[in-house]
Order: sequence, then structure tokens, then C-alpha cells
Amino acid sequence: MKYVLVTGGVVSGLGKGVTASSIGVLLKACGLRVTSIKIDPYLNTDAGTMSPFEHGEVFVLDDGGEVDLDLGNYERFLDIKLTRDNNITTGKIYQSVIDKERRGDYLGKTVQVVPHITGEIQEWIERVAMIPVDGNEGPADVCVIELGGTIGDIESMPFIEALGQFSYRVGPGNFCLVHVSLVPVLNVVGEQKTKPTQHSVRGLRGLGLTPNILACRSAKPLEENVKEKLSQFCHVPVPNIVTLHDVTNIWHIPLLLKKQKAHEALIKILQLQGVAKEPRLDEWTRRAEICDTLQDPVRIAMVGKYTGLSDAYLSVLKALLHAAVACQRKLVVDWIASPDLEETTEKEAPEVHKKAWGLLKAANGILVPGGFGDRGVQGKILAAKYARENKVPYLGICLGMQIAVIEFARSVMKLPYANSTEFAPDTKTPCIIFMPEGSKTHMGATMRLGSRTTYFEVPNCKAAKLYGNVNFVDERHRHRYEVNPDMVPEFEKAGLAFVGKDETGKRMEVIELPDHPYFIGVQFHPEFKSRPGKPSALFLGLIAASSGQLNTLLRTPFASDAAPPRLPSMNGPVTLKPHQNGNLKKLTNGLANGNYHANSINGNGVHV
Ligand code: GLN
Repeated sequence: MKYVLVTGGVVSGLGKGVTASSIGVLLKACGLRVTSIKIDPYLNTDAGTMSPFEHGEVFVLDDGGEVDLDLGNYERFLDIKLTRDNNITTGKIYQSVIDKERRGDYLGKTVQVVPHITGEIQEWIERVAMIPVDGNEGPADVCVIELGGTIGDIESMPFIEALGQFSYRVGPGNFCLVHVSLVPVLNVVGEQKTKPTQHSVRGLRGLGLTPNILACRSAKPLEENVKEKLSQFCHVPVPNIVTLHDVTNIWHIPLLLKKQKAHEALIKILQLQGVAKEPRLDEWTRRAEICDTLQDPVRIAMVGKYTGLSDAYLSVLKALLHAAVACQRKLVVDWIASPDLEETTEKEAPEVHKKAWGLLKAANGILVPGGFGDRGVQGKILAAKYARENKVPYLGICLGMQIAVIEFARSVMKLPYANSTEFAPDTKTPCIIFMPEGSKTHMGATMRLGSRTTYFEVPNCKAAKLYGNVNFVDERHRHRYEVNPDMVPEFEKAGLAFVGKDETGKRMEVIELPDHPYFIGVQFHPEFKSRPGKPSALFLGLIAASSGQLNTLLRTPFASDAAPPRLPSMNGPVTLKPHQNGNLKKLTNGLANGNYHANSINGNGVHV
């Protein structure tokens, strides 16, 4: 096993995650099998109890692990399936060491950070690196490890110490350290400044780690003399210094690395000559270019609670983007804070209310994503009602499905008190109820989590067709509440179709309105399994329906392997229109805003 460690210096939010994933993509393109580990030096056991508003979305894995959103980047970029153990946290490491101490495993020894915590970290890495994640048997060739935080943080010290010991243990030729740093330009002088990078490399060396490769974030490519200066002060050869300058979309990053021959440096350091082949990134190149050239907009209204931070819905945005690229449309996401749609806002801030409704009505499609708690629920109900009554394409995910069910009960079935017991514990008409296996006292890992099977009961429904006319599908879950099974017959009588259910037939997974162009709600989160080039079926359906392409999509012959049907545009090479920079809004992930995760926000429209 070869290891690539990616660390970050100077400031946080440099896009270490995307850099590390892109290194993985490049190595995979060289014919190597790649796995990855993310280290988060916080004390939480996992990301499950962390607010998406502070930390971005909680990503859910097949095994039910609630992990950092960077694992989503790895899964998407490398098309792999990770396990909960691929996300190491300080909390997990200490818990494991303390459990061992209680069992008496340390035989009377004083349990200390060095060697016990550092030893535990190394064992964990070695064990998890061996787990196959790409569907093939046997371990991968390379494990990319990303250390969260910035060099110098108190929290990451035990990890740095452990990784220093680890690099020594696995020996040269098996370990490569890539340090991601910042080279800013001060406006007054216009000169690329190397000092912050010099300092952070000095910090790293002081802690016993020497970088083999420097990946420098900057607005423009690094000047040759700047590279030479960095090389001299940081003791990294010039060919091993790569620039990650501003690009129009993140799919360019692996291409940028390849262009600067980062693979040659990696392969040399990891002594993989003879094993690795010349990388091919044709698909990536094509996708990155298509994404830059798309002009025809499709406007999706995202009606959510955490609209101030697009990272809170990162996978949903990525899934929308994958689908939009497949449908050859330029994705424009209009964020609508759901409370803005409510009557109280109309009274208190009429302008805000008017603007929110203006955006909703201008949208080609409406998406209500997952969420917790009752704030903004009424606004989401109004959005679902608007979509249902005006035949606007609607996709409701998890809470978004529950919202659609509540709205249907209130408006169509005339049950004004219909509600979820999450928001109204004593409601007379509980159409969404707490699941028996949930916990009301403990928050961590107590939901229905991870991959579960949904069986399609109605073979002719749009959802089953979109998935490729399948009988069942596995998707990831994260919820505590569900549709009240006792009310299902009433709902069905009133015209709401429950087209997908779990293996017991008691748990509702997919709803559809048969006489609506596209109105689908799912109890699961299809966004977590969407990949560039393999868009999630229901997102593809939403974008196709929102851009007048649903019938074409549904008419195309289905693949038998549960892959979503393909639009003509997804087959074969696409002729790109000439670049018209003037008309094109810069796509996101601008290095300029210092964050590969974030999407450039332009008024209310987010162009992902
Ligand atoms: N709060 C709802 C539940 O627990 C929905 C959860 C979600 O949207 N992920 O069931």
C-alpha cells in the first residue's frame, strides 16, 4: 500500500478536499486503484450531531456512517463507496483507546497520547486503507489521506505526530506528502507572495514532516521565479511545485494537475514506475468543457432552511449539476429561505415575501431538500402546494417528501390539522410519525441510516422508469419520522400514489402524483449516490421535466443494469459551442473565494 498524505497550510478552506480527490482521480487515471481516508481532528465521534450551518452537510454512507462532506467528494470523484471508518475523528480514536483501557488491554501501563493515541491512529489508517472500496476484491494500490484543519492547530498535533511516525515506518517510496498552501497577491504590489507558504512549510518541518509536493492555491499560475524561490526555501524541487489557480469549475482540477505533470512527481516519489500508465482523462476534459459552455438555463428553486451556506446542501447541488450537464442545461439555483414564503413574513417584511414568491414562480422546477425541526416548515408546505397546483416539477427529498404528504392531506383531503409529530407532537391527524426504532433521548447515530432497499409497487410509475424500469433500488436514508402507515389507504383513495415501499410494504419510500408532469417525493436521499457522468435518476427526471425533456428521457430505451436512462446528449461526443465569456457567468468553486466547496453566489442565483 502506498500513502499520499494531503495537509493544508496558511488558511482553512483552501480546497484540500478537492485537491486530494483530484490527486485520487489522477492516480486512478494512471490505472491504479485508489481509496481514501479523511481525518477530522474534532472531538465529535462523527458528523451526525453537527449543524450543517456550521460545518456543511452531513454526508451519509451505505453503511449508515454520518461523515464529513469531503467523503462525498471522494465518492463522487473516484466513484467509490467508502465506510464509516474511512472518516477518522479525534472522538473515535479516544473512544477506542479508552475502551481498550477499560478492558485492561494496556496491562497496567500509563495510557498516553504518545504512544497509545498515535499508535491507535496508525493502526486505524493501516486497517482501513486495506478495505476495498471500488467494488473489486483486495486492497487498493494507493490510499489518499486528507488531514483536516491547518498545520499548527492544537487539535491536529497527535495526528501529525502519528503521521510522522507512520511515514518513517512505511518508509520512503511508500509515502508522499502533498502540502496545499496559499500564494496570495497583494493588490498594491501585484506580486505573488511566498512568505505564508514558507512559514507553513517551516511549521510542518518543525513537526517532523517534509513535503514532497507543494500545491499552491493562487489566483493566477505561479511565476517561474516564484516557484524557484519556493523551491529554495521549502526544499521542494521545482517540478514538484504545482499551481492550483482559479478555474471555471472543479472538474478542471484533475486536468490542471495532469497538465503540470503532478502524476509524474507522485509516481516517482511512490516508486510506481512500471506499474502506472500514462493517465487518460478524456471524460473529465469533456465534462469540464461542456460545463463551461452551457448557456441554456434551467432554474431550480431550492426551498430550504440553511440557504446562507450552500455547503449545507452540497450533495444536492452536485446531483443537480450532474443532471443539468447530462441535460445540456446551465444550472441556476435560486435559494429561497422557506420562512420568507410564509404569511408572517408578508406582514413583517412584505418586500422579502414578494421577492421569495417571485423567485418561486419564476422557477422551472422546485426542490425541497431534507431537514430537521419546525422552522420554515409552513413555507415549504406552501412551495409544495404551489408546485402541485401549478404543475411545476417538484422533487421532495426526505423532509421534502413528508412536507408534500402533509400538504396533500391538508389541501386535498381537507385535514387542516394534518402534521408530522416532529412539529406537532399532539396533532389529531398525525400523517408523519416517529419511527419505532428511533431515539428521542440520544441524537448520535439513532436514526434510520444508510442503504435500504425500496421495492417499486407500481411498475409504470415515473420513478421506477427513471431508475431504468427496475423492481427495486438501494438508496441511502437518514430520518426518524415516516409516513403513518395507517393513513396510507386514505391517501391512496384521494389520489396520492405510494409507488415505492420497503421490504415489509409498511414503510413508504416514494410518492408520486400520477396526474402531475413530475411530482415525486422520496424518503431517501438520492443525492448521495449521484456521480459526474452518472446522474441520479430522480434528479435527472427533475431537470429533464424542468427543461421540457422528460418525455424524451422516458422514451429512451432503458439499460438493464439499473442505470438511469440516457438522453441523446449523454451519448458520444458533444459539439461544444464557442466560448462566449461575456455571456457566461463564471462557474463556481472559484479559487478566488477561497473555497472549492462553495458555489459562487450571485444575488439569489447560484451558478454551480
Ligand atoms: N426530520 C425528518 C425525519 O427525521 C426528515 C429528515 C431528513 O430530511 N433527513 O424524518
